[in-house]
Amino acid sequence: MTKANYPVNRFKDIQTPFYYYDLEVLRATLQEINAQASKSNFHVHYAMKANVNASVLQEIKNAGLGADCVSGGEIEAAITAGVSPTKVVFAGVGKADWEINMALDNNIFCFNVESIPELEIIDELALAKGKVANVALRINPNVSANTHHYITTGLSENKFGINMSELDKVIDLFPSLSNVKLIGLHFHIGSQITDMTSFQDLCVRVNEIQELFTSKNVTLDHINVGGGLGINYEHPNHFPIPDFEAYFKIFRDHLVLQPQQTLHFELGRAVVAQCGSLISKVLYIKEGTSKKFAILDAGFTELIRPALYQAYHRIENLTSELPAENYDVVGPICESSDTFAKDFSLNKTKRGDIIALRSAGAYGEIMASQYNLRQLPKAYTSDELL
Ligand SMILES: *Cc1c(COP(=O)(O)O)cnc(C)c1O
Repeated sequence: MTKANYPVNRFKDIQTPFYYYDLEVLRATLQEINAQASKSNFHVHYAMKANVNASVLQEIKNAGLGADCVSGGEIEAAITAGVSPTKVVFAGVGKADWEINMALDNNIFCFNVESIPELEIIDELALAKGKVANVALRINPNVSANTHHYITTGLSENKFGINMSELDKVIDLFPSLSNVKLIGLHFHIGSQITDMTSFQDLCVRVNEIQELFTSKNVTLDHINVGGGLGINYEHPNHFPIPDFEAYFKIFRDHLVLQPQQTLHFELGRAVVAQCGSLISKVLYIKEGTSKKFAILDAGFTELIRPALYQAYHRIENLTSELPAENYDVVGPICESSDTFAKDFSLNKTKRGDIIALRSAGAYGEIMASQYNLRQLPKAYTSDELL
């Protein structure tokens, strides 16, 4: 079994549980994104909701990525981190007035608009400020992402985006709205997508939708295909960097862009998942009648993905090389769903061993809660500890 390169001796002095970010993995990932995206002048906006750890954000900003925000707080965090407002896009089905106003005050690049009532409110608030807001229509393309139903967003039964049946109505509305400018189309079909044919299906659908706009003489300069590229949770050591080459190639090969059009992406998970681990200590080994429990000092308050999405995280015992045994790996929270894995094979484990829950850089630290009045986890980077 290969184990990642962790500063285990440093971990022994730090209060667990905590997040650990390997900035070398993050930098290599960002380098690969830029190498592949620059082949076609693709613009990548990092989906802030995956992780806003300050050190992680700094690396992402230094690599030149823009920011995809879904709240006023994220817009503020992106701009505070030094991301240029000209690279900030703002999506979300329920943008509050204060969030729209904040985005207008900051002159962000584009609002990704998810409904007709929202479009009318952005127009009204922009008028009050004497501004014209750039907007892209988030269209629900009715494409299946073949992923967990909680993280599928592009089907017509999902709450996201404007349905295809409403497009004519929206296009006809624009001439009457003087303070919004339609600059593009936006799509986002789901998350943790590993089947590339889903993205190919999206391209085909975008091409069809583009024809509709062309037939109505509406010119669009920006196409934004969202994010959703999945990562390999089973083998983080062998696949630390997602296959960005294959991902971008799908769009290069299947999406028909007009000469004036720029293509945008909003990647979250694929940027940050593999650089992060949740580091925890084993509190107790409890012998059940037919199984053994490894009870950790981390629970779903630190990493909720297994409880929320039945997500798999690879678990490693960093301090044991003994022959493997099977454990139910659980947390201390008073809920049965506080289970990271059942019948998981770990090197024989004892109280005090240090455990890494892998691939936890995305939707990990940011989703932490204080349930049971627990403290929010701290985070450390490889730059601080190596
Ligand atoms: C969550 C989200 C993303 C990022 O999704 P990932 O699966 O993390 O790449 C991109 N765009 C929008 C609109 C989102 O809501």
